[in-house]
Amino acid sequence: MEQKLKRQRALVTGASSGIGKAIALELGRAGADVLVNYLRGDDEAEAVAAAIRGSGSRAIAHQTDVSQEDQVIGMFQRMTAEWGGIDILVNNAGLQKDAPFDEMTLPQWNTVINVNLTGQFLCAREAVRAFKRQGKRLEVSRALGKIICISSVHEVIPWAGHVNYAASKGGVMLLMKSLAQEVASLHIRVNSICPGAIRTPINGDAWQTPGALQSLMSLIPYKRIGEPEDIAKTAIWLASDDSDYVTGASIFVDGGMLLYPGFEDNG
Ligand code: NAD
Repeated sequence: MEQKLKRQRALVTGASSGIGKAIALELGRAGADVLVNYLRGDDEAEAVAAAIRGSGSRAIAHQTDVSQEDQVIGMFQRMTAEWGGIDILVNNAGLQKDAPFDEMTLPQWNTVINVNLTGQFLCAREAVRAFKRQGKRLEVSRALGKIICISSVHEVIPWAGHVNYAASKGGVMLLMKSLAQEVASLHIRVNSICPGAIRTPINGDAWQTPGALQSLMSLIPYKRIGEPEDIAKTAIWLASDDSDYVTGASIFVDGGMLLYPGFEDNG
C-alpha cells in the first residue's frame, strides 16, 4: 500500500475505541506516527499503539481528558517533545448523555458540551498554535496543517431526546467552518466528517439486536450500518494532499441518511 502520510505526525483523540481507533490504525498504515489519546483503559490504548507500531509507524498512548485545558496543553507539549510537532489533528472524542429535554440535568448538558465542543476547541487551538510555530514542511505536505473534526449527521438533523448532543455537533459545524475561514490563507485545512450510524460502542442499542438493526435500516437508504473503517478511509483522504483544495467542508459518510428516507416509498 502506498504510504501517503509518511513522516507526518498525527494526534487522534478518543482513539482507544470505535471510530477513533479505526482512524488511528489507518493513519499508522498510511505511514503517519500517531499519538493515541484516550480517557480511560490503559490496556486498550496501549494495544492500539502496539498495533500501529506493528505496521511500522511510531505510536504513543497518552491519557488526557480533552475537556481540561491544562491536560490538553500538556498533551501537545508531549507531542512536540517526542516528535517535534504535529501535522494532523483528528478531533474525535465524544459522548452522549441522553435524556428527555425536561429531565435533562445541567451536568448532562455540560458534560456533552464540554467534551464534544469545548474539547474540539481546545485541541484545535493547540494544533493551530503548533502549526504556526513549526512552519511548512513541503516535503511531507502542501498544507501547513490539517484538522479533521468528527461531527455527526446531527450537526444538521435535529434529534429529540439528545438535545445536548445535537447542540454540540451543530456547534462543531460552525466552529469548524469559522476556523477554516480564519486559517485558510495560512494553508491550514479544517474539515469535518459527519458519520451516520456506525457500528461502535456509543450506539450499541441501535444495532445489537435484530429488531433494533431492522428499525435502523428504515433510516438508511443504502441498507447497511456503517463500519468504523468507512470513516477511517475518509479521514486518510482528508489528511492527505489528495484533498488539498478541500477546506471548510462537512463530508457526510452516512449511507444516505440525509436523503429524507421517509420519502423512499413515494412519501
Ligand atoms: P466510542 O464511544 O467508541 O468513542 C468515543 C471515544 O471518546 C471513547 O474512546 C471515549 O473514551 C472517548 N472520550 C470520551 N470522553 C473523552 C474525554 N473527555 N477525553 C478524551 N476522550 C474521551 O464511540 P464512537 O462512535 O467511536 O465515537 C467517536 C466520535 O464519532 C464521537 O465524536 C461521536 O459523536 C461521533 N459519531 C459517532 C457515530 C456513530 O454512529 N458511532 C455517529 C456520528 C458521530
